[in-house]
Amino acid sequence: MTDENYEEIDLAKDIEKVNRFARRELSPEEIYCFPLVLCDNEPDRDNERFSVSALEELAKLFVGKTGIFDHDPKGKNQTARIYEAQVLTDPEKTTSDGEVYTYLFAKAYMMKSEKNSDLIKEIDGGIKKEVSVSCSVKKKICSVCGRDIFKKSCAHKKGEVYNGKSCVHILDEPSDAYEWSFVAVPAQKNAGIKKNCTSDSDRLCEEVSRLLYLADTVLPLSVIKKLVYNADKERLCEIKTELEKKLSKRPVVQLCSELALKSASKKNNNSQFRL
Ligand SMILES: [Zn+2]
Repeated sequence: MTDENYEEIDLAKDIEKVNRFARRELSPEEIYCFPLVLCDNEPDRDNERFSVSALEELAKLFVGKTGIFDHDPKGKNQTARIYEAQVLTDPEKTTSDGEVYTYLFAKAYMMKSEKNSDLIKEIDGGIKKEVSVSCSVKKKICSVCGRDIFKKSCAHKKGEVYNGKSCVHILDEPSDAYEWSFVAVPAQKNAGIKKNCTSDSDRLCEEVSRLLYLADTVLPLSVIKKLVYNADKERLCEIKTELEKKLSKRPVVQLCSELALKSASKKNNNSQFRL
């Protein structure tokens, strides 16, 4: 897809898409919609980048996912949700890796309220935004030798140049997208996209540790993690399913906002999405 596919936000039209995610029928007057770039194929400060096919996959995974504004630690209810995402290209721009610049463009909505009126003004004012996304990928490929370094590491180092080509790690085959956060920062050169990508098995270990911890086990988190990281991955999947079943039966009220957001987006239900 190209930039010509870029669709301006038309509230009268987009309200239908928004309402697919809302708990009750919302009117265009009640919501504020804004565009954002979630991620792209430009190598980041860590010399990692997404493959174009990964961006296509993430476009599907991020729809419906909740994001938080973390510029204000007191702004508890400042959350937004992505209602549409698509991959776009800028044919006039080339990445440092020599590819056509390709990015994941999304539209998000939030409820209008007195509390977030300043935030809406900031976004409207075109203040540069830094977006950070969190997802897991199945593969991390070395751009020099093509090896999936999740399976076996190679001799190439990120950021070093081999035969005139800089080594980057290409994040490929995303399996899940978690949350995203949005920081309105004053215009600055390096404002951009940060990503937090982990391997599937790391993510599984983290998730099982978290669930075990929430299940009121008497073990401290450090011990849980040691056990989980050494456990058989197939068994961990089973444990995860069991724990999720068990935990879904009780009200989740006392979690910190980040955990609440995580579990809300994971379970893909609206119950904890307080807009
Ligand atoms: Zn390599």
